[in-house]
Amino acid sequence: MRILISNDDGIHAPGLVALHAALREIGDLEVVAPDSEQSAVGHAITLSDPIRARPVCRENGFRGYAVGGTPADSVKLAVCALLTEPVDLVVSGINLGPNAGISVIYSGTVSAATEGTILGIPSMAISLATYTDPCWDTAGRVARLLVRRLAERPLPRGVLLNVNVPNRPWDRLAGFAVTRMAESRFVETFDRRADPRGNVYYWMDGYLQPTGDAEGTDLAALENGFVSLTPIHFDLTHVPSLDRLRAWNLSMV
Ligand code: MN
Repeated sequence: MRILISNDDGIHAPGLVALHAALREIGDLEVVAPDSEQSAVGHAITLSDPIRARPVCRENGFRGYAVGGTPADSVKLAVCALLTEPVDLVVSGINLGPNAGISVIYSGTVSAATEGTILGIPSMAISLATYTDPCWDTAGRVARLLVRRLAERPLPRGVLLNVNVPNRPWDRLAGFAVTRMAESRFVETFDRRADPRGNVYYWMDGYLQPTGDAEGTDLAALENGFVSLTPIHFDLTHVPSLDRLRAWNLSMV
């Protein structure tokens, strides 16, 4: 099995090294990832600048390319230009921090996997729900188990698997939960500061606030210690609204 691994934390991020270590025994790995942190860039792509790719070779067979672009750029460039053979799977992560609820919309980690599905390749995004003291071993073990399963029993074309792992030792995980994206929003705070020349600038921060029924959601699963598995589809159509829109009975007269 040939697997392309990528992320949004950048090619030097410990989570990508952990993902490589977890998957190298079950597949031939190609690493193509942004050369710097690209968290929260969503599905941005680079059209107005050149995209440079620099070969990277590290210990334990960690080899590939550092890309001067976004996560989506990295996957596109890997599949369409850099790699000489097709890959069977795209895995993005392991992200430092959860990608659950509305975070999915902003996530570069998820977008790398979305790009994989757009290109017709089964894909998975995996994130560890912490910003401190990450249990990479736990997330790596989850990644290995789910990659095997995804390869055996792929999801429908165009659907990616978004995985969030609670930050705790493997034997303290509560289990696996199949979930939906929690209805939620970010409550932003803008820290107003001044630079040394007195020019005002702002620094965005915020927290994720659930806004709907928590039952069956990714956020609830994490809260209860379950690994959350959410199938994500890049078709953004809200199907239940189609009939409502047709009932507008628009015409040209
Ligand atoms: Mn990130």
